[in-house]
Amino acid sequence: MSSGKRLQVLSSHISGTQSAMASEKDAALAAVASDAPTIFDKIINKEIPANVVYEDDKVLAFRDIAPQAPTHILLIPKVRDGLTGLSKAEKRHCEILGHLLYTAKVVAKQEGLEEGFRIVINDGPNGCQSVYHIHVHLLGGRQMNWPPG
Ligand code: AMP
Repeated sequence: MSSGKRLQVLSSHISGTQSAMASEKDAALAAVASDAPTIFDKIINKEIPANVVYEDDKVLAFRDIAPQAPTHILLIPKVRDGLTGLSKAEKRHCEILGHLLYTAKVVAKQEGLEEGFRIVINDGPNGCQSVYHIHVHLLGGRQMNWPPG
């Protein structure tokens, strides 16, 4: 993909306008895996707004700007510590990874998802990852399908 096209896809992804929103796949293919700060750092640092539904000293949970279900929440570690994605996990990350999953269950209950929910962690280009700060997608409020696309 050319750098111009990459910029166009990424900026439309970040702007959040539905009409200009590139597909998740386009955004993922345009994303570059790196340790550079991401849009999530701006949310953590309160430089841009987010609809925060849960926060503790380690984890922040906020509504996805392009929801794929009636409930679509992202859970992220406040300190990335090298976890650009799950494939970068090391033994020392076990505690935060467990905390992210446990918090997803807490938030699911808070959101009233008694009938069930889905947890997704996209990793790398094939996994459709577009933001290189590990995040757990919590999706619910509708019947999910299997296999996923
Ligand atoms: P992924 O494709 O797994 O990397 O997921 C990244 C997610 O971040 C996508 O579902 C985007 O819609 C979401 N996203 C990107 N920017 C924002 C933002 N500013 N606020 C909330 N969600 C965002």
